[in-house]
Amino acid sequence: MPKANDLYNVSAEELDKFNQDDTDWWDLEGSLKTLHHINPVRLDFILRHVNLAELNVLDVGCGGGILTEALAKRNAQVTGLDMAENAISIATKHALNLDISIDYKCQSVQALAQEAPATFDVVTCMEMLEHVPDPYAIIQACYDLLKPNGYLFLSTLNRTLKARALAVFAAENIFKIIPKATHDFNKFIKPSELAEHCEMAGFKVCDLAGISYNPFTQIAHLDQNVDMNYLMLAQKIV
Ligand code: SAH
Repeated sequence: MPKANDLYNVSAEELDKFNQDDTDWWDLEGSLKTLHHINPVRLDFILRHVNLAELNVLDVGCGGGILTEALAKRNAQVTGLDMAENAISIATKHALNLDISIDYKCQSVQALAQEAPATFDVVTCMEMLEHVPDPYAIIQACYDLLKPNGYLFLSTLNRTLKARALAVFAAENIFKIIPKATHDFNKFIKPSELAEHCEMAGFKVCDLAGISYNPFTQIAHLDQNVDMNYLMLAQKIV
């Protein structure tokens, strides 16, 4: 159960989208299937830069554990954090059934940063920044949670007309691959803005890659086009 001060920097409306009783995070044909489709390329991007074995990894906004489990299967010591209680409950049960060891927490990232500063070698925060009131406060908390020289992996949606047309309108209304109102275009973040805020927090931005997604084949791959969904790697410099 989250404490009252955990509600800082949380949008109840955004959280509700992920906290429904019938949200099945592990249904490969369900409302969150695109997260499954892009998961292999997110993991590829991470593995290009770090060998996860034995590292202490935190997955912020982990939802039902799609990326979290993939990280744990690479022998990382993984903590998953999310403010949606149902998502954490689903994630906990799923990992337990598969005998995967993950420490799941329903807590705000800011509260964990106060409790456990400089604890993690790697922090991941994927497809979450576009759902919080102040994404840059999340980045600052991630900085605090990382050990010196630790890595932060981010992914979010670019604020371009192409993303508005394809990732919002077409994805919700034509391809119907995500539920209506999943995304608020105004919360999308340009890579230049994200990089600037990472640097303001004390990070050095090390890499940027685009995720291209074909809604017909439902296959994603990494490329240099960051017009829609993109990944960023930043390193904590102290
Ligand atoms: N990172 C996961 C889930 C992305 S969906 C993946 O990519 O597979 C966005 C997630 O962010 C949801 O699980 C939602 O509950 C979570 N979230 C939204 N606001 C949050 C906040 N302030 N703190 C922690 N998690 C949050």
